[in-house]
Order: sequence, then structure tokens, then C-alpha cells
Amino acid sequence: LHNTILELKGNIRVFCRVRPLLSDDTVNAAGKVISFPTSTEAQGRGIDLTQNGQKLSFTFDKVFMPEASQEDVFVEISQLVQSALDGYKVCIFAYGQTGSGKTHTMVGKPDSDNQKGLIPRSLEQVFETKQSLQNQGWSYKMQVSMLEIYNETIRDLLSPSNSSGFDASRPENGGKQYAIKHDANGNTHVSDLTIVDVHCYSQVSKLFGLAAESRSVGKTHMNQQSSRSHFVFTLRISGVNENTEQQVQGVLNLIDLAGSERLSKSGSTGDRLKETQAINKSLSSLSDVIFALAKKEEHVPFRNSKLTYLLQPCLGGNSKTLMFVNVSPDPSSVGESLCSLRFAARVNAC
Ligand code: ADP
Ligand code: MG
Repeated sequence: LHNTILELKGNIRVFCRVRPLLSDDTVNAAGKVISFPTSTEAQGRGIDLTQNGQKLSFTFDKVFMPEASQEDVFVEISQLVQSALDGYKVCIFAYGQTGSGKTHTMVGKPDSDNQKGLIPRSLEQVFETKQSLQNQGWSYKMQVSMLEIYNETIRDLLSPSNSSGFDASRPENGGKQYAIKHDANGNTHVSDLTIVDVHCYSQVSKLFGLAAESRSVGKTHMNQQSSRSHFVFTLRISGVNENTEQQVQGVLNLIDLAGSERLSKSGSTGDRLKETQAINKSLSSLSDVIFALAKKEEHVPFRNSKLTYLLQPCLGGNSKTLMFVNVSPDPSSVGESLCSLRFAARVNAC
């Protein structure tokens, strides 16, 4: 039933999540810029943003208010995670400016029952379901990879050499190119990328630790902030049923995108400017791809960025995409929030 609903609606859905106000936010009594409509038809789906006294209304497939817990959010995507076990290619993105709650939504605190985000929860569910499907004759092979894309360069977050400060993604440091190739079956291969077979959640949990360490090494060695790179978590699932000989190949991609904020081009120079250009390029490539797919255009510009090329088989055709647009309620972010909501509204119309 779930799959039929998705097919009726198109392959892409948009959920909006507004984070709570934090103590650093610049609120004052008059400063409330985000509100939620209470009419029955817009409840849970509408969001209003007030800028310069003007109220703008947006509607999405779902809107999570600041009080929504990590569990509340996961409940709404658990079917999508399930469809990866059924053999679908799934992408879940978090889009929004830095500080809007993308990493909280996707990763959260993996070791905290309440605060863990979608990635740890999805993996827990996948392993639980795998267990119960074994009784119906299914056996699954699961493989995990984690990478980040920074300035159009892939970094392998599970490469042991990365966590010790050695940057394997630089050709002069081992010559790893991380070349992306797609085979005729729609499977993606990234040369030299570490792919780990996983059998239980605790194994994956250790990998999160390794990836986090590797990301923080990248931060200091390459003068890079995690908010400036895309984080791509991939779970490949292949299942075979010994009774029916049925086979499935599913992929679950969970992506924490680089911050979408528009840095003033005139103000940024050198490395910062290069970063900004790379982020703008890949985020606009992602939207170009989404819009081209929605319009069923003959040419879909997958090759315009590493991110879209990497995800090509998981974005078109028989795949399912969900985009979270994360929004800050901070009045000083109202301009960026409006940009994010407008972008998300265009995606939602696909
Ligand atoms: P981003 O990844 O978009 O830059 P973060 O996920 O790091 O943003 O969130 C910024 C800050 O807000 C962090 O301190 C995070 O813990 C907090 N935060 C974000 N979303 C929530 C939420 N739903 N509930 C509580 N705290 C949140
Ligand atoms: Mg983040």
C-alpha cells in the first residue's frame, strides 16, 4: 500500500523539520518568524514564515514542529527504510543552512536512545527486520560505506589511513582516485572505497565512531568544516530467498548535505571561495537533476557534480527520494529559511 501511495504522488517527497530555539538564537518578544497553521487541512503539513510583516505559507508532505522527537521523525520514514529491504534504491537527504538541524536529524547522538538520528535508527530497524525475514527463507548480505564529498573530492571515511591523518584522497598520497562507475545492473562502484560487510548493529555503531574520527581529522588537516562537505552513508542490501529463489538488491543512501547558506561571493576568497563554489555547484546540480527527472527530460545532468553522479542510479527510475528541509526558527536566519522553504516547495511540486 505504501508503495502505491508513493507511485501516485511521484517519486520524491519533502518533509520539513523546524528545530527548537537554542540559547544562542537571537529571539526577542517580537521575533517569532515561524508559525504553524492550525486549520484541519494544513495541520502537520503547513508552515508559515513571516518576513517584514508579510506572512508566506508553505505546504509539504509533512512538517515536524520543534517539539517533534527523533522517534516521531523516524516513524515517518521507517516504511521507506523498509523498501530498501524490498529491493528499492532509496535516498534520504537533509537540506538546509548550517545550524538548521541536518546532522541532528540524520545522525544525532548515535549512542543516545532519545537523541540518535535517522541513520542509527534505520540501521537498527534493518537488522531487526533482517532477523524476522530469515524465518521466511530470506538471507541478506549488508555492506556499509561512508564518504564525504568536499570541494568535489571524495574522502573515504572508513579508510584506516584517513583516521590517522593521512589523506588518501590526494593522488600524491597513495593515488586513490575514487573513480565512480555504474554497471549495467545499476550498481555503483567507487574505486578504492572501503566497503565493510556488516552483520549486526554494534558493528555499524563502531563504524560511526571511525567515520566521526576521520571527519574530525579532515577538519584539522584540511582546514575543513564538516558543514562544508556532503556526508553520504550507504547501505547496500542484497537478499536471496532460499524457498522462492527471489533476489533483491536494495540501496539506502542517507545524506547530510553541506550547508545551503549563500556566502557572499565578494567576501570569500581563496579556499573559502573554492568551497562555496563547489557547494553551490553540487547543490544546484542536485536540484537540476531532481527537476529534470520530474519533467521527464531526456537529458538529466547527473554528471555535473560528484554527488549527483554518485547517486545517479538511486535518483532516477525505480527509486524513492525523500528530502528533509531543515529550518531554524532564529529570526536572524529568516532570509536563509525562506530560501530553503522556497527550494523545498519547488521540489515538493515535482
Ligand atoms: P546542521 O547540521 O544543519 O549544521 P545541527 O544538526 O548541527 O545543524 O544543529 C545545530 C544545533 O542545533 C546543534 O547543537 C543541535 O544539537 C541542535 N539541534 C538541531 N536540531 C535539534 C532538535 N530537533 N532538537 C534539539 N536540538 C537540535
Ligand atoms: Mg551538520
